[in-house]
Amino acid sequence: MAVIRVIEIGDVPKKYMDVLTQELNRRGYIHKFVVDRKVPLPQSAYDKYRGQYDAAALLKLARDPKVLLITNADLYSGNLNFVFGMTNGKGPGIVSTARLDPAFYGNQMNFGVTSERLVKESVHEVGHMFGLKNCEDKRCAMAVAQHFSDVDEKGLDFCKQCQVMLASDGTRI
Ligand SMILES: [Zn+2]
Ligand SMILES: [Zn+2]
Repeated sequence: MAVIRVIEIGDVPKKYMDVLTQELNRRGYIHKFVVDRKVPLPQSAYDKYRGQYDAAALLKLARDPKVLLITNADLYSGNLNFVFGMTNGKGPGIVSTARLDPAFYGNQMNFGVTSERLVKESVHEVGHMFGLKNCEDKRCAMAVAQHFSDVDEKGLDFCKQCQVMLASDGTRI
C-alpha cells in the first residue's frame, strides 16, 4: 500500500489535520494518508512585500512526491495573487487553510466550513498527484477554485469522468 505523508507547515490546528486525514482515508483511494512531522515556516519562502509565502518554495521542503503539505500560511504563486493550493507535477502538493477560513474575510471563524473546504481543496491536489487534470464540471473536486464560493460550489469527490480516468490509471481501486 502506498503511503502519502501529510506534513504540517507552520501551525495548523490539530483538529483540521485529524478531520482531513480521516476524510481522505475514507475515500477508498489505494493510498493511505498518514500525518507526519510538523515543519516550521521557513522565512526564506516569505515575501515581506506581499505578506505571503511562495507556494513553490514551500513545495521544495517536501523532497518526496508522495507528500501533501498543509499550511496556515497565505500562499501566492508566480503572477497569481493567491492560491488555495498547488501541486508540482504528480506531487508533492500543498494546501493552505488561510483563505478557506471565513475569519480571513472578517467573518467569524467556522470549523465546519473551513474543514470542509480544506478537504475539497486537498482532494483536488491529491487528484493532481494521481494524475488528474483540472475539470470543467463545477461540481467536481477537480474544478478550479479562484474564490471560496467556487470551493463551496464543488463537491467532496471526483466526477464520474475523473473517476474513470483514475480507474484506467490504476491509481484508485
Ligand atoms: Zn488544479
Ligand atoms: Zn471531474
